[in-house]
Amino acid sequence: MADHRRLIPRTDALLAEPALVEAVRRLGRARVRAAIVATQQRARDGELAPGEVLTAVLEALPGSAAGLLPVINATGVLLHTNLGRAPLSEAARQAVELAAGVTDVELDLATGGRGRRGRTALAALAAAVPAAEAVHVVNNNAAALVLAATTLAAGAEIVISRGELIEIGDGFRLPDLLVSTGARLREVGMTNRTAIADYAGAIGPGTGMVLKVHPSNYRIEGFTADVPVARLAELCRERGIPLVADAGSGLLAPEPLLPREPDVTSWLNEGADLVTTSGDKLLGGPQCGLLFGRADVVDRLRRHPLARALRVDKVTLAALEATVAGPPTPTWESLHAGQATLRSRAEHLADRLRDKGIDAKPVDSQSVVGGGGAPGVSLPSAAVALDERAAAALRRGRPPVLARVENGLCLLDLRAVPADQDDTLLASVHAVLAAY
Ligand SMILES: *Cc1c(COP(=O)(O)O)cnc(C)c1O
Repeated sequence: MADHRRLIPRTDALLAEPALVEAVRRLGRARVRAAIVATQQRARDGELAPGEVLTAVLEALPGSAAGLLPVINATGVLLHTNLGRAPLSEAARQAVELAAGVTDVELDLATGGRGRRGRTALAALAAAVPAAEAVHVVNNNAAALVLAATTLAAGAEIVISRGELIEIGDGFRLPDLLVSTGARLREVGMTNRTAIADYAGAIGPGTGMVLKVHPSNYRIEGFTADVPVARLAELCRERGIPLVADAGSGLLAPEPLLPREPDVTSWLNEGADLVTTSGDKLLGGPQCGLLFGRADVVDRLRRHPLARALRVDKVTLAALEATVAGPPTPTWESLHAGQATLRSRAEHLADRLRDKGIDAKPVDSQSVVGGGGAPGVSLPSAAVALDERAAAALRRGRPPVLARVENGLCLLDLRAVPADQDDTLLASVHAVLAAY
């Protein structure tokens, strides 16, 4: 036993190993040291032979300094909140890389003077939504609503339909957020029905703004009525009250596949003074909140002291610009993938898994948008069906694969998996299931 312990490589010797020198450069000395100490202990406890220590240290090291793991989203949920909503496009990732260094984010190189922060990102948004006179970007859509409510309605009333008092997820309730700004809510109408007269009766000298919210994650069916933006805009104009509309899911223009999802352009054309939306839902970009609207309204928001606290990071601005002006996003590709293409990928993957002795078959499936978008819409998709018990094991694969369990099967739905990840998916599934 004593001999065995003496053979365990010492810390300084391990730190001099080229593979660990490289790891220190990538991950920092403290992380590598911690992995060494823990692995040496395993060797002292007899779990590992001294000769296995270096390999075990390398295996114990995290994949990146961020502590995040890349994951394959085979759930069939396009915008999975727990997987970070929209994945960035290759163009946006490159923009992130570039923006992470020293850049001219607030400098006009022609004059050497100060430039407007994020002016190229703002220009890209303005070009994407010509109906907007002005654009502003904050940290997320919740921040956009806070900025609007604080600027336009602090100490005053926000008139809002009872059918639009929504909870977004993880206990985030829009009414609580609005009230936190010092505004009071003036609820009008009923859960299922709100009429223009309800709004007209509530608007008065104490009204700061009228808020229209897209109930993005549920749908009321049956005996229902709500007031379209166009009608509400007319009323607000008559009364001189700003109409703010929260479109939520990030479509800048109508999306034929999702006819019930509102979009920024249409709501502006219908007369909303300000439309807010998220950057990391159907827009397919980084987490941020976008505000489009009338120049005087956007300007008031931009100049409010709170705007500084909600200011978006330079890396986000770069990713946003590449998302809006660049090639189609992975979210767009996933939404628009044809079922025939997905089926042939599923068949091919199932064939290759069966070749390796794994019980797999291609099946038709149904995907959803998710992330609190397009409730009730299902998108015909295709999946590889595996034994139900595979799901838990695949989550611990490298990379982890998140599947969906349905009707006693583990489904690998391909709609949210970029086609160029099929080989990685196959390798991970094979490595996990071959061990059974
Ligand atoms: C998602 C959503 C929000 C919250 O947006 P975040 O960007 O997550 O802050 C607010 N309103 C609606 C209608 C939404 O769909």
